[in-house]
Amino acid sequence: MQLVDAVRRKREAEGLSIRALSAVVGISFSTLARIERGDGLPDNNSKIRLLEWLGTDAEEAGLTFDNVAFVHFRAAKNVRSSTVQALLRAADCIRRGAGADIRGERPASKLPPDHEAFALSKEELEQTAEKFRKDLGLAPDQPLDSLQLDVEDVRVFRLTQTDCLQASVANRLRNEACEEWSAMSVPLENTEDSWAVLLNDCHTRERQRVTLLEEFWHILLGHKLTKIARVAEAFGRTYDKGEEHDAYYLASATLLPRSALIKAVGRKISSAEIARKFGTSPELVDYRLKRLGLWREHVGKKVALSSN
Ligand SMILES: [Zn+2]
Repeated sequence: MQLVDAVRRKREAEGLSIRALSAVVGISFSTLARIERGDGLPDNNSKIRLLEWLGTDAEEAGLTFDNVAFVHFRAAKNVRSSTVQALLRAADCIRRGAGADIRGERPASKLPPDHEAFALSKEELEQTAEKFRKDLGLAPDQPLDSLQLDVEDVRVFRLTQTDCLQASVANRLRNEACEEWSAMSVPLENTEDSWAVLLNDCHTRERQRVTLLEEFWHILLGHKLTKIARVAEAFGRTYDKGEEHDAYYLASATLLPRSALIKAVGRKISSAEIARKFGTSPELVDYRLKRLGLWREHVGKKVALSSN
């Protein structure tokens, strides 16, 4: 009720119609109208969008503001809230260290609209990966070490190599919490054009390659942090499901090119051997072979028409 009153007061004071506010905060007109009528409670996503729009007015109205992490983490489902808190402290530190113009303040007061993501077709993803490898000057059977990759306006911080983090935060993230998270992307500008990626380098290099490449692909595909999700006890912004799929698929396709896999399967090369050659895990090879429909041939399952 307090939130709804505060929103209505500020909206009227600024002379905004419900429709105009809807465009500003990125909540649909019908949802916003329903919330103002007091017909049902706003969900977390709408609540945070409204609180961000209220800004200091929210505090004056006595509404608590759970700071929303303006970051994307790849974290395990069972991530502990102490780990999330440590990641948030790390994000602040990286933002400050990178001289970001958001300076640890509450980020954009204007969230991008809660859009419907469009997923790419499998063929489009394959071609996007092929084009990317070609631009890097790689031959189809040449491994890509994504840990050596430079992407314009993306700075990569390795957990064990950055001196930005407080020792206690760094220790917690690399020891007890090592398995709970793999990377965190932090936008350095409100436009989300320039980013920092904190990479958990306690994991194997094989795992880091796919993790880092997935973060790069989110950025290169222009994904925006528009969804709000509860992670442990904090709110974080995330990408949506379709975007997660596309970024992961592209990371795997860039590391393990289709034409090389077709050839390897034809020559009956094992997953372990393919993985060794391309610097990935055998599990990633299996995922690729299944997605490409090459599994039956790879495991050599015989099929035949019965004679009767
Ligand atoms: Zn992701």
